[in-house]
Amino acid sequence: MYKVMTPGPTMVAPNVRAARSLECTNPDLDEAFVEFYKETCELISELLHTRNETLILDGEGILGLEAACASLTEPGDKVLVLDNGIYGKGFADFVTMYGGEPTILSFDYEREIAAEELEAYLEKNHDFKYATIVHCDTPSGMLNEIGTLCPLLKKYGILTVVDSVSAMFGEPVEVDAFQIDILCGGSQKAVSAPPGLTFVVVSEEAKQAMKTRKTPIRSFYANLAVFDGYYEQKWFPYTMPISDINGLRVAFENIKADDLVYERHSRIAEATRTAIQAAGLALYQQSGFSNTVTVFRIPEGITEQEILTRMKETHNILLAGSFGEFSGKLIRIGHMGYNATEENMVEVMRGLDEVFEWYGIKLQGSLEKEFVSALESSDELLILS
Ligand SMILES: *Cc1c(COP(=O)(O)O)cnc(C)c1O
Repeated sequence: MYKVMTPGPTMVAPNVRAARSLECTNPDLDEAFVEFYKETCELISELLHTRNETLILDGEGILGLEAACASLTEPGDKVLVLDNGIYGKGFADFVTMYGGEPTILSFDYEREIAAEELEAYLEKNHDFKYATIVHCDTPSGMLNEIGTLCPLLKKYGILTVVDSVSAMFGEPVEVDAFQIDILCGGSQKAVSAPPGLTFVVVSEEAKQAMKTRKTPIRSFYANLAVFDGYYEQKWFPYTMPISDINGLRVAFENIKADDLVYERHSRIAEATRTAIQAAGLALYQQSGFSNTVTVFRIPEGITEQEILTRMKETHNILLAGSFGEFSGKLIRIGHMGYNATEENMVEVMRGLDEVFEWYGIKLQGSLEKEFVSALESSDELLILS
C-alpha cells in the first residue's frame, strides 16, 4: 500500500475502517438507523458551529455541489460565480445545467479573492439570487476568506453557496458566523473517511428559497427538498448507505476528540511552506495558502511524471500533479486530516530530497532538514508565547 499524501482522497484511520464493517440493519425499516443518521448530522452541524440542518447524501463531493445548484436554481435565475480557480469557475456549469444564468466574476488565480474588489463590484451589481464560492480551490491550493466574503454577499441579499470540500476540518468553518446558506463537504478530504459521501448544511433562508420556487426542482437525486420531514416520517427518499455512514460517524468522532485539529494543520502547513521556499522551490500562490494542501511549481529540468513516479516507486508515497491549465506545472502535497502528521510529512520531504537529487536538480537546502527546523522553531515560539 502507498502512503497516500494526496489532497484527497486521504488515508483512513483504522477505527473508521473498522466501523464500516459493523453488522448492518435495514436502514429503511429500522428506526434506530433514522436516529443514528440524525445524530450524525447533528454532530456535523455542531462541529461546524451552526444551528442549520445537515443532510448526508449518498454520493461523492460533486453531488453536494450539484444538489445545491439544482435545488436553488430556477430557469432565468441570475447567479454570481466567483472564480479564482478551476472548481470556482466550474460552478457555472451546474448553474447553466439547471437553467440559471451565471455571471462569472474572475479574479487573479494566484491570490485569494480580495474583499475590496468584490465589494466594488457588488456596489454596482447585486441582482443575484445566490453566489458560489470555493473555500479551498484544490487544484491550486487557493484558500478564500469565506468569513469575510459571505457576509459581504449577504449584505446585498445574495444567498451564499460554499464548496469547502477540501478545507473544512483543516481550516476552521463557522457556518452561522460566516453566513453560509449552503455549505458543501465531502467524506474523502480532511474528514478522512473513504470517498462516497457528501454532506450539505442548509440554512432556513435557503430552504425558504426552495419552498417558494415557481417551478419544480429538476432532479430527484440532487433535490435537497426531498429530505423534508424525513425524521418525522421515518422515511428516506432512497436507501441510505449504512456502512459508509457508520464510517463517517467515527471519522467525525475522531475530529471531535482532536482538540488541536486546526493547530496541527496550520503548524504542519506552515513548516511545509517554509521548507519549500528555503530549499529554493517556488510555491504556486502569492497569497491565500490553504493549510490542507501545499502546491509548488515544478522546477526546470524535471517533469511531473518523473517526480510522481519516483516518489511512488522508490518511496512508496503517492503525491498529486494538477489538472486543467495547471497540468504538468504543479505538484500538490495533501496534508489534511489523517495525513497531517509530522512523521508523514518528514517522509514526504525526505523522499522529495532524494528525487530531486536523483534527477540532478540542485536545491538550496534539504527539504527534510528545513521542514524539521521550521517545526522546531514554531515550537520555540509557542513556548515563548
Ligand atoms: C475533491 C473536491 C470536490 C469533490 O470532488 P470529487 O471529484 O467528488 O472528489 C469538490 N470540490 C473541491 C474543491 C474538491 O477539492
